[in-house]
Amino acid sequence: MSARRVLIADDNEHNREYARQVLVDAWAVLVAGEGQEALELARRERPDLVLLDLSMPVLNGWEVARQLKSDPATAGIPLVACTAHAMAGDRERALATGFDGYLAKPYRPHELVACVESFLGPAAPAGGGDDEWAVDESRLHDSREGEAP
Ligand SMILES: [Mg+2]
Repeated sequence: MSARRVLIADDNEHNREYARQVLVDAWAVLVAGEGQEALELARRERPDLVLLDLSMPVLNGWEVARQLKSDPATAGIPLVACTAHAMAGDRERALATGFDGYLAKPYRPHELVACVESFLGPAAPAGGGDDEWAVDESRLHDSREGEAP
């Protein structure tokens, strides 16, 4: 069975790389640095799961989600909203918008893995090594760029 594919969309390079490192041993990872790129990649590659930063340039995560969920070709792809702005009601708003899950940043590696596993099933064994959590957490930035409405 080929690896399930996860698209990580985040305009913060540190956050993107952190998530990629956590997931890459168990899943095939695609990355996008802004919303339009995320939308195009999702349409072309049909990943099994998309982790969408809500605050991104060009198209924000809300708009990417709206477009993916309104297209029958991509509506079935699970979308997880990721945001550093844990504002009251964000989770409810995300789920009402069509997101399938919500993950507040910053998150620990095991929280991200548990989130992905909840959609894709157990992670594949990471090549027999025990270094699957070997992520430099100092690189996890709690980005505070402005949240577009
Ligand atoms: Mg962002």
